[in-house]
Amino acid sequence: MDGETSDVDFVSCCDDTRRHPWFAVVADRTQSDAQFTVGLTGGIASGKSTIAGFFEALGVPVIDTDIVAREVVAPGSPGLVKIRESFGDSVIDECGSLDRYRMREIIFSNDEKRLALERILHPLIRTETNAQAAAAEGDYVVIVVPLLFESPIKAEMDRIVVVDCEEETQIERLILRDNESRDQACRILEAQANREERLSIADDIVRNDGDVDSARERVHTLHGIYMELAHEQSN
Ligand code: ADP
Repeated sequence: MDGETSDVDFVSCCDDTRRHPWFAVVADRTQSDAQFTVGLTGGIASGKSTIAGFFEALGVPVIDTDIVAREVVAPGSPGLVKIRESFGDSVIDECGSLDRYRMREIIFSNDEKRLALERILHPLIRTETNAQAAAAEGDYVVIVVPLLFESPIKAEMDRIVVVDCEEETQIERLILRDNESRDQACRILEAQANREERLSIADDIVRNDGDVDSARERVHTLHGIYMELAHEQSN
């Protein structure tokens, strides 16, 4: 298990913004200012971070809620203290970091515990995402939300881009990247929206099955479109 495992992928988004104000605040932000907002989503290990990196290389501010979720549970953070209080020492590794593998095992077999984790994480992610969004400068901003299909904030995005690949590719990448067993990788996929559901909310699709250069080219094309749309919106 490496330390790069995504967090938000295993913290499912709730459909009630009143109980989960992180989503409400992201929504407020997109409504209250004129910044064009692109929601980037995709299944676990579909290549969201990779594709987001291509936008970033073009100078687009990217807020990755996966990264934010890691930051708010960094060793010694108030978030990690709260998690330790709720879930015990077994979820902390010998270096004082969150043991994500252990955490995943716990929340996948227990909905109550998953919700308890969400109640700790969402307000923290909300505050940090909000701060990063406020500091972002650019013609448009990309917000990476792994479980966007499951979340009401999809309605607040000006545009949704879905990173898409074969499920078998996701499973192979999960085994490789996160050292998951095939069974666990399949369970993670089953816990998320399926491809069809995700694609149903897509304005744009980036295919990411193998050829990284094609995916990068696609991002360049989309960047041109988003710049135009952002300018249209601001005029
Ligand atoms: P996500 O952010 O959706 O979980 P990542 O961007 O981290 O996915 O990609 C998952 C893994 O697959 C990473 O190890 C990444 O380097 C690799 N990867 C991403 N895109 C490709 C690609 N087109 N070809 C081969 N490997 C890829």
